[in-house]
Amino acid sequence: MPSFRPLTRFFQSSRLTRAMVTQTPRDRSNLVPFSSRLEEGRALAQDVWSIYNVANLPADCINLGQGYMNFAPPKWVTEAAEQALNSVTANHYSHPKGRIRLREAIKKVYSPQLHRDLNVETEILVTSGANEGQYSVFTAFLEQGDEVICFEPFFDQYLPSITFNGGKPVYVPLHPPAHATGKFSSNEWKIDPAELRAAVTSRTKMIIVNTPHNPVGKVFTREELETIAAIAEEFNLIVMADEVYDCLVFDGKEHVRIATLPGMWDRTVTVGSAGKSFAATGWRVGWLIGPEYIIKPTLAATTRIVFCSNSPLQEAAAAGLEQVQERGFFQKQTDEYAERRAVLTEAFDNLGLPYTMPDGSYFVLLDISRVKFPEDYPFPESVLGRGRDFRACWFIAVEVGVSSIPVSEFYCEEHANIGEVYARFAFCKDVDTLHKAAERLQKLKQYIV
Ligand code: GLN
Repeated sequence: MPSFRPLTRFFQSSRLTRAMVTQTPRDRSNLVPFSSRLEEGRALAQDVWSIYNVANLPADCINLGQGYMNFAPPKWVTEAAEQALNSVTANHYSHPKGRIRLREAIKKVYSPQLHRDLNVETEILVTSGANEGQYSVFTAFLEQGDEVICFEPFFDQYLPSITFNGGKPVYVPLHPPAHATGKFSSNEWKIDPAELRAAVTSRTKMIIVNTPHNPVGKVFTREELETIAAIAEEFNLIVMADEVYDCLVFDGKEHVRIATLPGMWDRTVTVGSAGKSFAATGWRVGWLIGPEYIIKPTLAATTRIVFCSNSPLQEAAAAGLEQVQERGFFQKQTDEYAERRAVLTEAFDNLGLPYTMPDGSYFVLLDISRVKFPEDYPFPESVLGRGRDFRACWFIAVEVGVSSIPVSEFYCEEHANIGEVYARFAFCKDVDTLHKAAERLQKLKQYIV
């Protein structure tokens, strides 16, 4: 029996290759090699969510890193989950398209917003979280070598989802304002239409537009979306509209769905998430909405990947969507998030460091370039050899007691230097926790130069 050494410690840098992974003191030639697919999409690097996982940080560290809530979903939604668990049918397989009750509820909420009477049989697909839905679209549409344009910073999961399906990510940066000194609006992160156009090649098949945006918090304006739409039309591209934070848009800003722009329904798949909508990120219930020619092959893919999504929580998500309007739930939830955002951003105002005021989502980017830390600090191996922000976030988590996520992870290697200026703080936490975090964050003052 060969003894299998755990490989995790070799998976810690984003620059690892198979050769580096297999260069061990011991001859591994008798072991079955893993698929070369894992050498793409940074899949061998330890993911940022695992590195800054609460399990790796001091026990009393306040987690503003990975974006999940420290509060429960609304009672009227969890009660529906309980009811479903106590029934018979909802404990068994659902139709691969998703449970009809949930598809009807999605239709009810989204039809008015998409200005069309959605067809629950052909235009809505329930998936095992938004991630799996996006993965299935890639499986359904990407040929080997097809290119997918991602705006940087991008949600890290896009990369392996694209490359595992033979695609190639192509990056177009969102530009932060030059020389920001204090608070600046997420809307000041801009795309350059010329750069977007230049990124399109004969192999481009898709553009991912994430609005509201993780991690910037930007809500794309109608004009920006029109620019993207025009390019998608001109080059016959599919637009993947990742709108999982659609219920979290602040200050009365307009969330424009790119699928509603003239001609765009026909080439857009809109992605939604029960996790974000109902404070239930562990449910893994998401959905796709789009024209039949996108949904049908994607259904074929998802059926063979997961067969169907978990049934009881589809019932709960359905109960949630059925009642949001009469309860005014999304508005109330947004107001609560606005209060949470205010607690965190006030802490950053007091520090005097530049930060992005998000128009949507639940993330704030703090410019940490003036936060100094000793280079000989006892950093774990997992944060070495990565952007400066990896070390800064570790240092802040341990010394200040508040965790965050290094933003270079949301950039390709060539552009990591843009991202390493920022740490991402999530405010999907109760107000008391955020007050405590805000107080601790003042300790950063002593490290600012
Ligand atoms: N979407 C969440 C975030 O950005 C969590 C992502 C994840 O854990 N994979 O924080």
